[in-house]
This record gives sequence, structure tokens and C-alpha cells, in this order.
Amino acid sequence: MFNIDSLEFDPEKVYDLIILGGGPTAIGCGIYAARFAMKILIIGKVFGGLITTTHIVENYPGVTSISGQGLMEMFRQHMESLNIPFISDEIQSIEKKEDYFFLKTFFQNFKAKTICIATGSERKKLGIPGEQQFSGRGVSYCATCDGPFFKDKIVGVIGGSDSAAKEALFLTQHCKKVYIIYRGEEIRAEPINKKRVLENDKIEIIYNTNVIEIKGDHKINSIIFDNGKEFKVDGVFIEIGSIPNSEIAKKIGVRTNNHGEIMINRKSETNIPGIYAAGDVADAPYKQAITGVSEGVIAAYSAFEYLKNQTIQY
Ligand SMILES: Cc1cc2nc3c(=O)[nH]c(=O)nc-3n(C[C@H](O)[C@H](O)[C@H](O)COP(=O)(O)OP(=O)(O)OC[C@H]3O[C@@H](n4cnc5c(N)ncnc54)[C@H](O)[C@@H]3O)c2cc1C
Repeated sequence: MFNIDSLEFDPEKVYDLIILGGGPTAIGCGIYAARFAMKILIIGKVFGGLITTTHIVENYPGVTSISGQGLMEMFRQHMESLNIPFISDEIQSIEKKEDYFFLKTFFQNFKAKTICIATGSERKKLGIPGEQQFSGRGVSYCATCDGPFFKDKIVGVIGGSDSAAKEALFLTQHCKKVYIIYRGEEIRAEPINKKRVLENDKIEIIYNTNVIEIKGDHKINSIIFDNGKEFKVDGVFIEIGSIPNSEIAKKIGVRTNNHGEIMINRKSETNIPGIYAAGDVADAPYKQAITGVSEGVIAAYSAFEYLKNQTIQY
């Protein structure tokens, strides 16, 4: 927490809307808010967000097929065409006093009339022995980033989602063999990706199996299944979902559900007037770039309407 009474605010640093995050949701929100002529700022740890970790996006309307990086490059160009300011920094805390929100990063303080939390999520860890020890030495959470290091190797992808299927497909471009290890009976990928997985000779699915340990010396040698079997692999890609980045929101009383997702209504409003949330950090059941963008856009509309009904001046 910081003492907001002792902070001096440059009027240049008082905004109608500050958007927290650097992924598609934040940029979608920013594009609409800028076009509403709101004074806005986007603050994100890094530009691009989670989607930059995937090698291929084929479901974003208007773009038949593109890498996650490529898609976000288009978002960047759109953002820059509207002169939307983006600061690469991490929000440490938020406080509310009277009609304003005070945001603190490592180096700067900001003041806003409304905020939109679009901080996305972090990859979930398995929490098994060896995972942390071999992280970066065979354990990875991003096939696009680390796949090329596993040329002609044998790897395991742990998980059964569409993201896991896409990670496995990408890895076949580099690896000799890719095992999908899934605790369920059938992977939950989009039908088109499921078909690609099932038809790919390099991929084999091991069903009804949990990995309970990762073993090795200076790098991974094997994984242990819950049936006791030791299975030889050179690398493990963990793709078992994510945890919402909602801690700073919780600290100021923003309501979250049992999964830690920020609860929003159809106007992307949280329980605190003037605070909106959208995208992977929020409680919508489906989490995709396009759904995040649309919730972000709704947040921009709602913030604009909210300010129109306020009488506060700065
Ligand atoms: C392997 C994989 C493949 C995928 N493929 C697709 C696909 O094909 N199509 C599709 O539509 N979606 C896909 N997705 C899902 C998509 O990536 C997410 O739904 C989307 O990125 C969510 O966007 P977001 O902006 O809400 O969150 P994120 O993209 O997670 O962005 C949140 C940003 O906020 C930043 N941040 C966090 N905390 C703070 C803080 N305190 N201060 C400042 N910044 C902060 C983070 O660093 C991050 O940059 C895929 C996901 C994965 C993992």
C-alpha cells in the first residue's frame, strides 16, 4: 500500500481510463476508448500477452492464419495509428480515494477516473517433484518459445485442451516423437485440431494418465506415471490451464469467484463502480483472444457511459 495523500500528481498523468495489461483484451479496450476521445493509458508488463506464445491462430475473424506474434503486431500497428500510449511496467497496487483510482508501478504513480483490469493469467504448474528443478532444463510452458531446442528429441505434452493439441502439433515440426499425456479419456481440442493430432504419425496420446514426477540429472531423462511406469522423454511441455492474475484487484475488494477470476456482468462491470475487468482474468467460461477483445470493448463503452454520468473534474 502507498500513501496517496503524499503523492503529487502531474495533471498530465490523470486519465479517464487506465487499462492494466498488454494482451489483446487491453488493446481492444484501448482502441475503442481512444475513439471515444477518452484520455487513456495502457500499462502492461510486456506487450502482446499470452497469445504470442502460440505459433498459429486460425480463428481470429478477418485473419485466416497467422502466428500469435504476427496478430499482436497488427494490434500494435492499430494502437499506434490512434496514438494510444503504452507503458511497459507492472502495476504493483491500486487504491481508491473519493472518485479516483491511484495506481502504483515500480517507478511511477498514476491517477485515473476509471480502470479496466485485463491482466490475463499465468500458466498453471503441475506442482510435482522435479518440475521446478528442471524448469528451463527440459520443463517448458511454451512450445513456440522452446520447441526448437528439442530437435529430433522425444517430448511429452501434458494436458488435453485445444492449447495442448496445438502445442503438440507445433512440436512435431522439431521433435522426433510427441506424446500427449492426458488424465482424461478424450482430448478436448477443437475438432479440426483433434483430427490433425489423430492423423499425425509423430503424435501418440496416452490417456487416463497423470505424471507424478519428473526425473533427470542435469536435464530431464524421464517422467513417472501414476501407474508407476517410468517413461523416457527429453522434454516436457506443461499445458494444463492457467491461474488468473487477480491479486491486485482482490486487494481493493474486487469480487472474484472460486477460481480467482474477477466476476463481471454483461457490461464488464465489477462490484466496484469505475472498475471494469475483461479477458482471461475475468469469469467468462470461454477464454480466447476474440472473447477477451469483446469484453474489453464492452468495458470501454461502459467506462465512457459511466464518465458521462459523472460530474467529477480534474
Ligand atoms: C498455447 C495457446 C494457444 C492459444 N491459441 C489461441 C488461438 O488460437 N486463438 C485465440 O483466440 N486464443 C488462443 N489462446 C488464448 C489467448 O492467448 C488468450 O485468451 C488471450 O491471450 C487473453 O488475452 P488477455 O489480454 O485477456 O490476457 P493475456 O494475453 O494473458 O495478457 C495479459 C497481460 O497483462 C500483463 N499483466 C499481468 N499482470 C500485470 C500487472 N500487474 N501490471 C501490468 N501488466 C500485467 C501480462 O504480462 C500480459 O501481458 C491460446 C492460448 C495458449 C496458451
